[in-house]
Amino acid sequence: MTELTEASVRAEVRAWLEANWNPELGLIEWRNKLIDSGWGVPGWPKEWYGRDLPPGLVPVVEEEIQRSGAIGVAKAGIRTLAAATILAHGTKLHKEKFLRRILTGEDTWCQLFSEPGSGSDVAGAVTRAELSGNKWVVNGQKVWTTSAHHADYGLLLARTDWDKPKHKGLSYFIIDMHQPGVKAQPLKQMNGHASFNQVFLTDAEVMPEFLVANVGDGWAVTTTTLMHERRGADALRSWAVGSDRKGRAYDEERAEIATVMEPYKWYPQRAGRVDLILPRARETGRIDDPVVRQEIAKVLIMSKSAEWLARRARTAQELGRPQGPEGSLGKLISSNVARAAARVHTQISGADALLTGDDSPMKGVIAEILVSVPATSIAGGTDEIQRNIIAERVLKMPKEPSIDTDKPFRDVPRNTVG
Ligand SMILES: Cc1cc2nc3c(=O)[nH]c(=O)nc-3n(C[C@H](O)[C@H](O)[C@H](O)COP(=O)(O)OP(=O)(O)OC[C@H]3O[C@@H](n4cnc5c(N)ncnc54)[C@H](O)[C@@H]3O)c2cc1C
Repeated sequence: MTELTEASVRAEVRAWLEANWNPELGLIEWRNKLIDSGWGVPGWPKEWYGRDLPPGLVPVVEEEIQRSGAIGVAKAGIRTLAAATILAHGTKLHKEKFLRRILTGEDTWCQLFSEPGSGSDVAGAVTRAELSGNKWVVNGQKVWTTSAHHADYGLLLARTDWDKPKHKGLSYFIIDMHQPGVKAQPLKQMNGHASFNQVFLTDAEVMPEFLVANVGDGWAVTTTTLMHERRGADALRSWAVGSDRKGRAYDEERAEIATVMEPYKWYPQRAGRVDLILPRARETGRIDDPVVRQEIAKVLIMSKSAEWLARRARTAQELGRPQGPEGSLGKLISSNVARAAARVHTQISGADALLTGDDSPMKGVIAEILVSVPATSIAGGTDEIQRNIIAERVLKMPKEPSIDTDKPFRDVPRNTVG
């Protein structure tokens, strides 16, 4: 067997792309070809569309795909969390039924974790799943569910045993969102978008084969999903942007981005748009104000440091090293950068930062930054929860006192019914 090196992998994937990439193919047809070759997700197991490539060589393949102009597998949205969770805990049936269609982009997913009474305390979920005959019947309410209004499947956390302690009575399911018992209602945000929903589950059904792991293992599976979510919320996060090149595959990708990425349109603004700070400071002349210059410099330094930290975390991950403190800090630092960037945008634009509409600064983008940034310190675990995690797991400080983890969940005082 020839030894895998960066040069050999680069040469092999380049030759494959030269022989196979054709922008006139349909998007799904092309992605299926890419998936069959193993180059779409080269770090995945050979058995499941990958090549078992060592993590350090995966970026080489991504670089070559980008260089050739070819389109990669579908990666945006909750589908990547679904794929990571199914790869880690799913059965053969789950992998056969879902993985390929996640990668082609044919199915979209949502994450049904948060509830009106359990967000940070997601293990306090009271949505119930009960076995009735040969299926699970689900009743309850979820909230803040991004993309639920167009999702095909949901990653569902539900309580299956009320007599076990909080974390032990939960189970994890894959639920078909297209059924009469599932109703998604969009919620309008203060930035004008409606990217998440409240989801009402009324006698919704899940067949037993769509339980992930065992009954009662829901918390462990949820932890896997959340770990991947937080890992992806660092300074290296990027947003799908369609190419302006010509060809059927590009046209179809642009259409895909327009619909699937609609809920994420404001996510760059939520990260603070550090990239707009200098152009806007030059355009307004505020770059000449020494106080503003100093604040701009602080944000740019903070943002660059966050990027380097995130690179260090990704490299460690790619080399298969255990996650160090930098992994836990990434999400928290992204919140700090976003907040600092929003503050500097107001210093640069002054009261004009509040204006929306086509004749306002950057067509309303600055105002959108101000009302979108708060989401960064909430989504995927709040700043306070991140600090708790860092204190307990990284700094090994004493754990937060708990009054509800050692008794049957039924007996835990709470402000929600279930
Ligand atoms: C843009 C966005 C997208 C989202 N998408 C999804 C999604 O797709 N699916 C999904 O399930 N959820 C989603 N969420 C929900 C998100 O996970 C929750 O909002 C988050 O976990 C916080 O929960 P909560 O809103 O119930 O706030 P709460 O948990 O009620 O928190 C309220 C306040 O109390 C603080 N607090 C709570 N507990 C502690 C503690 N132990 N120590 C210190 N302070 C504490 C919090 O930090 C916060 O400031 C999304 C949220 C946002 C903003």
